[in-house]
Amino acid sequence: MKKVALITGGTRGIGRAISEAFQKAGYRVAAVYAANDAAAQTFYQQTGIAVYQWDVSDFAACQQGIAQVEADLGPVDILVNNAGITRDGMFHKMSLEQWQAVINTNLSSLFNMCRPVIEGMRERGFGRIINISSINGQKGQAGQTNYSAAKAGELGFTKALAMENARKGITVNAICPGYIATDMVNAMPADIVNEKIVPHILVGRLGQPDEIARCALFLASDDAGYITGSTISVNGGQYMA
Ligand code: NDP
Repeated sequence: MKKVALITGGTRGIGRAISEAFQKAGYRVAAVYAANDAAAQTFYQQTGIAVYQWDVSDFAACQQGIAQVEADLGPVDILVNNAGITRDGMFHKMSLEQWQAVINTNLSSLFNMCRPVIEGMRERGFGRIINISSINGQKGQAGQTNYSAAKAGELGFTKALAMENARKGITVNAICPGYIATDMVNAMPADIVNEKIVPHILVGRLGQPDEIARCALFLASDDAGYITGSTISVNGGQYMA
């Protein structure tokens, strides 16, 4: 029986690469997106992967959406919490809306998505939860107090949930990407990327979404069954934690 992998933010960027990698590896895949129907439709037409629209910052929507995925594909074996946003600004100028949007989408979504699947995983004695955090959750980043707080929070969540579920066949790990060439990074001014970021990346280039996807695929595999509560940095040597 093919395992079911649910990828939030699975239609674009890093999430898209993860969805496609899991599909290629033989998983049944569900990709969740928020609002960009055009990107989701293109993704569906190009890959045939099932797409679902809901807001991961909304607990009731997650409960309902996951129930639909499970009715369509079967119980969720692998959950990749990848959906994320930025709303950058210096803290002294930051609005409550900027703060809450980032905390709710990047961090509260982990409660919203994990809570509906964890009991089933425990009963079945198997589960893989992979949280896509960030280098900026590890080291902090000016202009991103909201994002750094959310991403660091993901790391604490990952360790605590790993402890609670290690004896139930469930692993919980985090991946911290460095700067990866996606819409999120393409939205930054090119001179900042080329002059302020790339020179700090030891391998001398941005990462590719596939390079995160391969790591997620490994963490989901049976080969990674002894890895839990870990934070794996995939950042070209930009920050060694
Ligand atoms: P993108 O902006 O390219 O894609 C984001 C995806 O998340 C889209 O599919 C989007 O849906 C979805 N999404 C956003 N908000 C919600 C929501 N509320 N509910 C459901 N889905 C949502 O992001 P990246 O691929 O660049 O980033 C993916 C993850 O990796 C994020 O968590 C990000 O913080 C993290 N990361 C990225 C880095 C980078 O350099 N790119 C570096 C470090 C970490 P829609 O298409 O509808 O908007």
